[in-house]
Amino acid sequence: MKLDTCFLCGSSESRVVHKGTRGGYEDIDVLACKHCGLVRLSESIEDSESFYADSGMRNHARERIEDLQISTRKDDERRFRFAENMIEGRSVLDFGCGDGGFLVRAKQVAKQVEGVELETVMRTQLKEAGISCHASIDEIGIFDIITLFHVLEHLEDPLLYLRKFKEHLSASGMLLIEVPNAEDALLKQYQSKPFADFTYWHCHIYLYTNTTLALLAKKAGYQVTFIQQVQRYPLANHLYWLSQGRPGGHFAWSFLQDERLDKAYGEKMAALGMADTILAGLTPLSTED
Ligand SMILES: [Zn+2]
Repeated sequence: MKLDTCFLCGSSESRVVHKGTRGGYEDIDVLACKHCGLVRLSESIEDSESFYADSGMRNHARERIEDLQISTRKDDERRFRFAENMIEGRSVLDFGCGDGGFLVRAKQVAKQVEGVELETVMRTQLKEAGISCHASIDEIGIFDIITLFHVLEHLEDPLLYLRKFKEHLSASGMLLIEVPNAEDALLKQYQSKPFADFTYWHCHIYLYTNTTLALLAKKAGYQVTFIQQVQRYPLANHLYWLSQGRPGGHFAWSFLQDERLDKAYGEKMAALGMADTILAGLTPLSTED
């Protein structure tokens, strides 16, 4: 489907940020709205729900869930540490829960944990691992915390979903959202062409900044409780992109790994608004604007 107008502000004026997207989609460009800055694809792929259901996003869908959980462990632990106080004694739904690594940890402190996952293979494996997992948001009840970790950018109609989530949030409920930052330093400041070629892919229909995420929240009837940035990838990863034009620098150049250095670099990126990740907490407003 062609995405000719910006759903946030209604403007049809845009500039091309990147020609083509990863995965052989030369006809799908990345655009930025000239009015509000929202980054979007020029068109979305057909029937994305069945694409995800058939594990189109993952090449490793047939891998064992335990192996997948090892690959996402660092992010799962960081998210759990961040959310631990928020979710203690409360009910948690992880929308787009993937391998369930966050839910496994959340289960230790939360009153109840459940997941929604479109990928059929994942859902089956999660059930086998003892995590209650649904195919659709419509199947679930009311939760105190709904988390979306790197999910919102995949949604073709984010407004529809954010409004739906309000119906599934308790009175004091909150959405916890993590998305990639459209103003990642590798794009905005360092202007790495290989990174741009790699990071822009057809699965990310919309990419957000602090500003456009807050605009979306307001439009969907939420108040932004907090919005902050986190740098997931260390300095070695960035230097490797700039030097070698390839991912995986944090492994290939692990000699640069240094907890204090990476912490300081990450904090600097976040302070500049150019970290790779945005984390936001949204609470429903009683009346929509
Ligand atoms: Zn716009």
